[in-house]
Amino acid sequence: MWRELSPIGRDRDSGGYRRYAWTGADADCRAWFRAQAESRGLTHEVDRNGNQWAWLGDPAGRDAVVTGSHLDSVPDGGAFDGPLGVVSAFAALDELRARGAEFSRPLAISNFVDEEGARFGLACVGSRLTAGRLTAEQAGRLTDADGVTLPQAMERAGHDPEAVGADPERLGRIAAFVELHVEQGRALAEGPHPVGVASAIWPHGRWRFDFRGEANHAGTTRLADRRDPMLTYAHTVLAAREHAAGTGALATFGKVAVDPNGVNAIASLVRGWLDSRAADEETLAELVGAVERSAAEHGAADGVGVEVTRESFTPVVEFAGGLRDRLAALLARLDAERGGPGSAGAGSRGPASYGAGGPGAVPILPTGAGHDAGVLSAAVPTAMLYVRNPTGVSHSPAEFATEDDCTAGVVALADVLEDLACR
Ligand SMILES: [Zn+2]
Repeated sequence: MWRELSPIGRDRDSGGYRRYAWTGADADCRAWFRAQAESRGLTHEVDRNGNQWAWLGDPAGRDAVVTGSHLDSVPDGGAFDGPLGVVSAFAALDELRARGAEFSRPLAISNFVDEEGARFGLACVGSRLTAGRLTAEQAGRLTDADGVTLPQAMERAGHDPEAVGADPERLGRIAAFVELHVEQGRALAEGPHPVGVASAIWPHGRWRFDFRGEANHAGTTRLADRRDPMLTYAHTVLAAREHAAGTGALATFGKVAVDPNGVNAIASLVRGWLDSRAADEETLAELVGAVERSAAEHGAADGVGVEVTRESFTPVVEFAGGLRDRLAALLARLDAERGGPGSAGAGSRGPASYGAGGPGAVPILPTGAGHDAGVLSAAVPTAMLYVRNPTGVSHSPAEFATEDDCTAGVVALADVLEDLACR
């Protein structure tokens, strides 16, 4: 499966993936998903919002167990973010069939469309629409860099844009959703466990800072006469870093736009976007407030006006405690029975094991990254498994997980699905 997916949407120069929603590369990924479903005798279905489902058992049945992730990418993304969860889902089903597992409820594998938001600027569009967190009207206004709207893009890709909207009936039939994902950090890299369980997704948001000064000649304007918004912006970037370091949170200015953007012109406007995330909403609010105050203070000193607009905000997501604890306890128990990684001793049912510790030793981690699982968690009991990423690098061609760790992820996912769907 990995070999089949690997050339799709890969940029020759960067080696990264450009699998944007409703493009040709996306269509190729979706065709691959459908072929995987059909080759396993699963019922393939595209829902009203363009998410793909592969059903074992009755697609209309109740108490379904669903696992999956996404196949789209950020610009020059890595191979693992998204596809690892989808490939592992199919591989976990293969593993369960090899074990002779008997399913007592429907099982589905899902591919949520447009998770990364690389094309239309909003993440998790497929799951947000389904969960009613994005209306059809709002989705209809999303536009890509070429001026193509989301409905136009859907239509060109053969999906009816008139169909989009909340799908509570579908979500109501799901008893549990489990998303496996490559870890986007190094918490697991520090320890012996290739697989961890998610505790929460940090609250996060985007704020636009507009710094307004005065455009003027870089060669003739005395320093004392300048109102240079670039200076205020630079001070604010440094302040964000300092405040974040002081609170254990994250603050990043990763995008900036400058007017008039000339080498020999003092800027009139610098617009910078702050992405900030923290373990809790209070810390996040304090951090962003501190950055805003620093910007205002430096702006006053520089003769620059500062205006801050919150463009998006996602509250903290605490994954369902019961499901999370059940997964962690199960993985820890099986881990102990199998004797830890590398052990092929008695009691080992799968091709690999995970974790070296005894019961309770499976790492439970928070993350700063958003996921479809986070969006769905308000409507469906939801859990996530993370697979160790030795460098922690993500959203980059350098994103990586070893084959052994990926296999351990598949076994862990199979164990979890067996527990949820086979008894
Ligand atoms: Zn992802």
